[in-house]
Amino acid sequence: MRCLYCGEKIIPVVSWGSLFSREEEILLCEQCKDQLTLIEGDCCVRCSRPFDGLAVEYRKGEYCYDCVRWEGDIEWNGILERNRSLYLYNDFLKEVISRYKFRGDYVLARFFCKTLIQVLKDFDYDLLVPIPLSQERLYERGFNQAEALIIEAGLTLTPALKRIHTEKQSKKSREERIHLSNIFTIVNEEDIVGKKVMLIDDIYTTGSTLMHAGKLLKQHGTLSVSSFTIARG
Ligand SMILES: [Zn+2]
Ligand SMILES: [Zn+2]
Repeated sequence: MRCLYCGEKIIPVVSWGSLFSREEEILLCEQCKDQLTLIEGDCCVRCSRPFDGLAVEYRKGEYCYDCVRWEGDIEWNGILERNRSLYLYNDFLKEVISRYKFRGDYVLARFFCKTLIQVLKDFDYDLLVPIPLSQERLYERGFNQAEALIIEAGLTLTPALKRIHTEKQSKKSREERIHLSNIFTIVNEEDIVGKKVMLIDDIYTTGSTLMHAGKLLKQHGTLSVSSFTIARG
């Protein structure tokens, strides 16, 4: 067996535990796994940003400052119930995701989908909706990484959103991004009316992509919106 990321041979450690537990497929080698930092412990209840290492002025009670701002804005208040991110967006994960995303390394979805299945147990949802890529990006990459995650997890996805804005988002400031409207359109309103939606994306940075998607869904009758991302920036 070889590590999905670095290709190193994985030698499984046999312990009493592993003898009795169901054989689990090991997908990443120890060195690679060690470089991923799981988000756990004290973190923002809304976006799962870790409080560890975050200056006091960037948090307010159980919320981080970003979330205080979103929730304090009448335009965005109550759009996103809760976001859960798995790992810190450190240099290693940045590299992993860029391989996954830009170089079309579909196989990495197999590693992340396992935790997706775990995390989803904590959420009450009806539909899994991947954040879509623009047609250009989809053509470049060959697949949508959020969709890949859901498919690899063996779950059903609902492609409820379509992206209409194609300009590169990352080049814009937070303010600019927030004020951009119409990034998405709804594919089929009947699919989402009265439903609890779980959005799936790769990275939560400012949250603005998820917020735009969430707002549009809610305007079209979605009951509630939560989200899952692999990384928290
Ligand atoms: Zn490795
Ligand atoms: Zn937060």
